[in-house]
Parts: sequence; C-alpha cells; structure tokens
Amino acid sequence: MGRLHTAHGTVDTPAFVAVATRGTVKAVSMEDLESLGVQILIANTYHLYLRPGPETVAELGGLHGFTGWRGPWMTDSGGFQVFSLGAAKVHGVGKIAPIFPGEARPRNASGISLVKLTEDGAWIRSIFDGAKHFFSPEEVIRVERLLGADIILPLDECTSPFHDEAYTKAAMERTHRWAERALLAFERTQGLGPNPHQELWGIIQGGAYEELRRTSAKTIASMDFPGFAIGGSLGRSKEDMYRVIEWTVSELPTDKPRHLLGIGTIEDILEAVKRGVDLFDCAAPTRLARNGTLFSLTEPGFRLNLDSARFRHDPRPVDETCDCPTCRKYSRAYLHHLLRTGELSYFRLGTLHNLRFMVRWMAWIREELSSGRLPEVPK
Ligand SMILES: [Zn+2]
Repeated sequence: MGRLHTAHGTVDTPAFVAVATRGTVKAVSMEDLESLGVQILIANTYHLYLRPGPETVAELGGLHGFTGWRGPWMTDSGGFQVFSLGAAKVHGVGKIAPIFPGEARPRNASGISLVKLTEDGAWIRSIFDGAKHFFSPEEVIRVERLLGADIILPLDECTSPFHDEAYTKAAMERTHRWAERALLAFERTQGLGPNPHQELWGIIQGGAYEELRRTSAKTIASMDFPGFAIGGSLGRSKEDMYRVIEWTVSELPTDKPRHLLGIGTIEDILEAVKRGVDLFDCAAPTRLARNGTLFSLTEPGFRLNLDSARFRHDPRPVDETCDCPTCRKYSRAYLHHLLRTGELSYFRLGTLHNLRFMVRWMAWIREELSSGRLPEVPK
C-alpha cells in the first residue's frame, strides 16, 4: 500500500486511474467521478495535441482548469499511438496478442501503418485528416508541459508481441535514449505551462524477453525518475504478463511508485498488485459498460451481458452488493430496455456502475492488504 502525493491531491494506492482520453471519461461528468470516489484520471497527449491543441488547454488553465477535474491528472505520452496506429495495425494485435492455432499472425492484420519511426522521433498520420505530425521526445514534453498534468510520461516505443527479440531490443534501446532526452527537455522546460509541480516518470519496455525487461528496468531506474510505468508488449498470455511484471518489478526500487499501462481486468489487477504494482489505467471498464457488459462479483466471469434476453423481466439491480446510483435505483430489466433501444441515458448509467465497481474493487484490495492478507479472487 502507499500514498501518492501530487500538487492536486493524494492518491491511495493500489489505485485505478480512470481513462479520460480526450479530457473526459466518456458519458459521465466530473461530478459523477467525484461522487464515485475516482481518485485520478489519465488523458492522452496525442489526442489532445490534435484537438483542441495544447496551447488552448494551457490558456484555459491546463487540464485542471479546462476540464474541471481539480484532482490529480496523468498524461500518457503518445507512445501507445506509435504502437496502436503502427505495429498493432500491421500485426493486428493488442498488448497481449490473440493467438489462432496454425496462423503466424492474427486475421485482422492490415499491414498498413500510420506511423514512421526514426531515431529522432515518430511521424504519425492524423486519424482525422491524414496530416502528418512529428513527435520527438522533446516535443512530447513541451506538449505535456502545456497540458499540465501532475504525472507525465516520456515518448516511448511500445512493441508488439510479434516483434522478434532483435527488434524489441533495438526499440528498447531507442526508448532509453528517448528517456534521457525527455529528462533533459523536462529540465529545460521548467516553468512552461500551468503546473509547476509536474513529475516525469520513466517507461520500461523490453517486450516479453526476460533479459530485455530486466535491462530496461535497471536502465530506467538508474535515471532520475520519481516513478515508473511498465509499458509495451506483455507477451501472448496472462502467464507471460505475470512473468514480465515479476522480472520488471524485481529490478525497481521499492520506494517509488509503479504504474502498469493499459491493463485493468479485475483478475489482472489483483495479480499485478501481488507482484508490486501500484497504479492501473484501462479503458475496458468504461468501454465494456457502453457495450452492455457490466461487472458483478456474483456472475460467472464477474460480468453480465445486459443485452441478453434473460434480463428482460429481471427486477434485480445489476449487482445486489453495489452502492452505485444505478444499482440503488434501476433494475436489470430497465437497463436492458435502455440498452436495446439505444437510449443515451444507458451510457451514463452503465458507466457509473462499472467505474464504481473498479473504485470499490481497489478499496477492497487496500482493505485486505491493510489487514495483512494477500487478496484472492472471490470464488
Ligand atoms: Zn452498481
């Protein structure tokens, strides 16, 4: 357990960081997030760079002033877009690759990349108008200074599970050189932007290769970062992911926080907490909610698919143990109806429930830890 202090408030860890890619958690308001007990948000540098632009955000008081969320903010670097618009499109994969027997590559591999990488940085074609934008480690720091989040991350190259060891090593070494450049740029830009109390954390790469992960963790830990994020490919299975976390965490100092980028199913969070991870961000809880998948500890797989006809006459709340505004007032039958008819109110009600579920899940993990127990997934 820990307590992370920022200029805009304290975060009790282990904690879930709610994903606010464009400066908003989709379908809910900042008041909603406060009343749900959400502690910290993460926005995406690449998306905010394209729209509305970092200068606009800075002029309106940075993320805190512009969005109305006065609590702690993080910004991701855009490194994930180097992956998601580049290698992930070419290889057709996510952070953990789906494997289809007998196929070298997943079926949705497109072979088309919107990213061109050089030693100096990454050219990314805009998802809006196709215009090319150049992201160097220095430019990303400048943009993040203007956005003004409390915790910011340097540009990195996130590799795919289908990259071989030689490529993963070259990308990792480039990420290390970019980390050094980002630190220098961070020092040089002290005083730029609305938040003078920002922290720059380091990102660890190395794919699912033990030697590379250990090297990357040691190298990034030797630089002057007050916290760390574990990025990149985590292998091809959950077991791979747990091993990658173990190798990485064992090389990191115990007195600095560790964030796992983009991972956040309830089982994965628990397994990563046991291995020493403090912070998680993941778009899945809110994205699943919008698609009709709501979390419940009493359902098989801890989730129910509200679209199912079995809920048409179900008067019970989504989860009888949940204290969220949705579960206090509305039945599964009503939510099923809203989802089926495409009513906009469903998106908010579903999102409120899944976010509250994540907040309570993290609070329960902290409670277990504080009682000296290692939390286990409920049977
Ligand atoms: Zn609920």
